[in-house]
Amino acid sequence: MSPYNRSSKEEEYFAKQEAEKLRQSALEHAAEMAEEEKKRQKELHYMKCPKCGMDMKEIEFRNVHIDKCFSCGGLYFDDGELEQVIADEGEDSFLGRITSFFK
Ligand SMILES: [Zn+2]
Repeated sequence: MSPYNRSSKEEEYFAKQEAEKLRQSALEHAAEMAEEEKKRQKELHYMKCPKCGMDMKEIEFRNVHIDKCFSCGGLYFDDGELEQVIADEGEDSFLGRITSFFK
């Protein structure tokens, strides 16, 4: 059958298929843009102090790598590092109590 003889139901079917392709392509494009934005944000903020924006330096204390800002004195623990310190200090230590309080 030539495309000129398509019934309206067939036309609707192909129009829907085309719309679905365009929708998928728009979603993929948005996901790519989100990924690029995530990368850009990481490049912009990686190892920058969340309080004052200056560079942080990695220091080691009792085998835990802590990010420290020598400009404002802030300390930053990566995921799991605080728990490592608490494991050494005990649940009843100041850090142990403050962490269980804000769970
Ligand atoms: Zn700082």
